[in-house]
Amino acid sequence: MNYDKNNIFAKILRKEIPCKKIYENDHVLAFHDINPQKKIHVLVIPKGEFTDFDDFTKRATEIEMKEFLKGVSHVSGLLGLEKKGYRVLSNIGQDGGQEVPHLHFHLFGGERVGKMVEK
Ligand code: 5GP
Repeated sequence: MNYDKNNIFAKILRKEIPCKKIYENDHVLAFHDINPQKKIHVLVIPKGEFTDFDDFTKRATEIEMKEFLKGVSHVSGLLGLEKKGYRVLSNIGQDGGQEVPHLHFHLFGGERVGKMVEK
């Protein structure tokens, strides 16, 4: 799938629409999900134009990959999530239930996250 420059996270990255920012560096942006599913529900996105994790693993440079994973880990640390545990999740495409076509990792925590997937 071609990257859609008008997706909502691209607009957030361009600062055309606001977000509740937690962390930003040259490679990643982290912000609170607008519709939190758990006490803590944060999204971490790379700044590069990648539609999903599959696209990212095929096209990202080693630096982009390293910096994205380091960014996710840094944000979980900022939120203190490692103490009691948390869940990282990334939806990919139609069957994955992805709504926004810009790669994002969800971080869920602050309480028991619950069962892994619907049956
Ligand atoms: P997906 O289903 O693509 O994995 O998840 C998209 C997530 O983006 C959803 O959890 C949804 O609540 C969140 N979201 C959608 N639009 C916005 C927005 O404008 N701002 C923020 N902060 N989150 C959004």
